[in-house]
Amino acid sequence: MSGPAILKLIQGAEVYAPEPLGPMDVLIAGGLVACLDPGALDLGRAELELIDGRGKLLVPGFIDGHVHLLGGGGEGGYASRTPELMLSDLTTAGVTTVIGCLGTDSTTRTMASLLAKARGLEAEGVTAYIYTGSYRVPVRTLTGSVQDDLILIDKVIGVGEIALSDHRSSQPTFDEVARIAADARVGGMLSGKAGVVNVHLGDGERMLTLIERILRETEIPAKHFVPTHINRNQRLLEAGSAYARQDGGRGRFIDLTTSTEPVEGRSCGALLAQLLQAGVAAGSISFSSDGQGSLPRFNAAREYAGLGVGKVDTLFAEVRRGVQEYGVPLEVALQVITSTPAAYLRLPAKGRIRAGADADLVLLDRNLEIDAVLARGEILVRDHELKRLGSFEQDVMDTLQRKQRFMSN
Ligand SMILES: [Zn+2]
Repeated sequence: MSGPAILKLIQGAEVYAPEPLGPMDVLIAGGLVACLDPGALDLGRAELELIDGRGKLLVPGFIDGHVHLLGGGGEGGYASRTPELMLSDLTTAGVTTVIGCLGTDSTTRTMASLLAKARGLEAEGVTAYIYTGSYRVPVRTLTGSVQDDLILIDKVIGVGEIALSDHRSSQPTFDEVARIAADARVGGMLSGKAGVVNVHLGDGERMLTLIERILRETEIPAKHFVPTHINRNQRLLEAGSAYARQDGGRGRFIDLTTSTEPVEGRSCGALLAQLLQAGVAAGSISFSSDGQGSLPRFNAAREYAGLGVGKVDTLFAEVRRGVQEYGVPLEVALQVITSTPAAYLRLPAKGRIRAGADADLVLLDRNLEIDAVLARGEILVRDHELKRLGSFEQDVMDTLQRKQRFMSN
């Protein structure tokens, strides 16, 4: 027989679905989780691939809800445009579902390109969706309408990132943002999608006020808004915490960006513990990486040292930090990159380990290091080793090696 086995059995891993289920076997059939704890199996002549999970933890594949798949940046001129994401940037970070967006630049980065990139990543093995739109309002779309994009284009699951309260935003009015949210809501209803609006918040004083006004003055429910970069500064963090606690947290979401500089020395892992302590429900908090965006870098003396590129692997690194350094229970911390984004992005096959869900799975060792990654049942990382590269990744690595010979130490 050739090719990978259709049936796989992960044996004896401690399952966090994300709720803790204890040690058990998990049977994978094709791209799906067939059943948990299958007991004795009589598979006849079917070929079964065994994956030893003993002493390890099995968790849902991670969802990164805000990544600049095409690269972003550009705010320091053309030479500051950041590079495109590659498959292994996701898989080595345990990310099996990614949502792509444009950023500040929606002129040289286009929706058509973003859609093609998402389809490319999907063909390479992970699940990828996109937000239609841009920082700028009126938003860039594929068909000319947010609502039509949602209804007609399978990969479009929301709008974003719309920039508010930022010197780089297009300073959209109440009416403009309310209309975008309304289109997202109705487009989502007609297509069975979430229809969320991913809102980039800058460090301006208005913070969440425009969103709050829309919730007050229109019929649009809060669940359509995912305000992100809430950990940009202390003031916004406090406003976000208060926002997320309103209505008992029902349908309220805030998103923290893992690749940015810590707020007063506290990175996302610490902030998660702090928000939970302040009474924000775990189900109201998510993390995203803002991967491939441009990031100011600072040297040891805290001086600006040029631009860097946001990394997707900060996503789980901050969840791990929350668990290992700040005592957040693993099953709670995991929610922010699994079940919570799956719920507000309305991706029922994602973010949980259960029969019938997509076999998007991460095997962690006891130190919470990524040991194996499966996406739709395919093994992309195993025994800490990459088993699949995206198109041209080998070329990129070969070229890098060649260039390294030209670098002095
Ligand atoms: Zn942003």
